[in-house]
Amino acid sequence: MKTIKEPARELNVRAEVDVLVVGAGPAGLMAAEAAAKDKSLKVMLLEQRGYLGGNLTIGLPILAFLGPKGNQVVKGGAQRLIDRLWAKGAASEHKPCKNHMSLTIIDPDQTKTTAWEIMDDAGVEVLLYVFVVDTIVENGCVKGVIIESKAGREVILAKSVIDCTGDGDVAFRAGVECTKGDENGGMQPPTLMYLMKGVEMQKLRDAICNEPEKYDMDVMPPAQFRDGKFITVGLRGCIIEAQKQGYKVPVARTILITGLKDDEIWVNMTRVNGVDSTDPASYTHGEHEARRQMYEVTDYLKNFVPGFESAWIERSAAFMGIRESRVIVGKYVMTAQDILHQKSFDDVIAVAGYPVDIHHAEGGDCTMLFCDDAYDIPYGVLVPEHIEGLLVAGRCSSMDHEAMAATRVMSTCMALGEAAGTAARIAIADGVLPSGVDVKKVQAALLESGAYLGE
Ligand SMILES: Cc1cc2nc3c(=O)[nH]c(=O)nc-3n(C[C@H](O)[C@H](O)[C@H](O)COP(=O)(O)OP(=O)(O)OC[C@H]3O[C@@H](n4cnc5c(N)ncnc54)[C@H](O)[C@@H]3O)c2cc1C
Repeated sequence: MKTIKEPARELNVRAEVDVLVVGAGPAGLMAAEAAAKDKSLKVMLLEQRGYLGGNLTIGLPILAFLGPKGNQVVKGGAQRLIDRLWAKGAASEHKPCKNHMSLTIIDPDQTKTTAWEIMDDAGVEVLLYVFVVDTIVENGCVKGVIIESKAGREVILAKSVIDCTGDGDVAFRAGVECTKGDENGGMQPPTLMYLMKGVEMQKLRDAICNEPEKYDMDVMPPAQFRDGKFITVGLRGCIIEAQKQGYKVPVARTILITGLKDDEIWVNMTRVNGVDSTDPASYTHGEHEARRQMYEVTDYLKNFVPGFESAWIERSAAFMGIRESRVIVGKYVMTAQDILHQKSFDDVIAVAGYPVDIHHAEGGDCTMLFCDDAYDIPYGVLVPEHIEGLLVAGRCSSMDHEAMAATRVMSTCMALGEAAGTAARIAIADGVLPSGVDVKKVQAALLESGAYLGE
């Protein structure tokens, strides 16, 4: 590739803070709130987009607040976000589900507003429209980041940085070893979510409940669809029939999520294989292709799925959601075996209950590996193996391909974020690096603020 040498230049230091959180998705919001908890520290949250929430805003339900045994395994800051949404009528109950453990429907727009309220109440300084492009690393320790914005290239210095970018952008720039995908580099494909309105929900419920052979569901008993919120994962026969008749459907299962209003369905069925969100050309291709697929999927729904006959596309999400990209190699790399055998860890900082749920990189179907009970997540997944001054929370924490397919759900990402923010705060108070924090103190602080770390 042709290259050009960029001349060295002096950069303005826009801010010096105690804890800097990059990325305002589920992990970043909770990390920032937890770091700012006792208002003793200056905490700043950076976000490239014009709103807070990351994937909380693209029409997804939050899965697995409840574990396989039905008890609530994610509490703390994540539950407080839901409490605020409940107070506005902007979230559903935690509805138990055989396939997803539980689903909690949220209003994407109210979530953006509520995220602001949480940041304001916590005293977090938020800076939008800034993209972190590099890091300042001295003697193997992150001292800050370089941002680009309409104001140019600037520096923000911090005692601790928490990478919640989903893609591990900060860690990668700081030289942390990162991996992507399965043994062949295959990553779960992304999806452009979209909202359909005018769905005759009762017709859909009746079809699933009364004709389960024709309108088949994976794992979930038809009765689960009789009332309340639901996610369909199935109608495989409908897709096969549609494909026989020449309809184009990029997935093997019909995944539909009820919205908060009675006639609303969020469709999770576009899939673009081979997209790498860390390559803008690849991500651009994904957005283009998914937008085309949206109309093909809608044709299928209107012609084969009861209740969709008169429905219409109301809107699409602001961006195509990324299921998988970089993960860091941390002090501990969590594996599917840890999850499936519910390995317990002395340094547990979060508990999760979602199964291993891998949308195949080459498209089509999905692998689900269920566990009997909730499982521990250790502090080591947040701590990069070699670089100091940095924690990494959310879907880019240290997991192998299978494990991240379980821990990637937003309830778990929020729990990881809260743990990272809490650890960064305690490390600064104790004058140690995050890698050397007393995890017992972190656990005590998490429990005190209502988090769940097991019985
Ligand atoms: C299609 C799809 C369906 C899914 N279904 C569900 C579901 O039903 N339920 C569920 O719970 N989970 C679901 N997930 C998983 C879940 O949404 C994600 O794994 C989770 O949101 C990851 O949280 P995060 O905070 O790590 O990252 P994100 O939510 O991706 O947030 C990262 C934030 O960082 C910002 N950012 C990134 N890079 C930079 C940078 N360099 N500088 C500044 N800001 C930056 C981004 O703009 C974003 O706001 C789904 C994911 C996808 C894609």
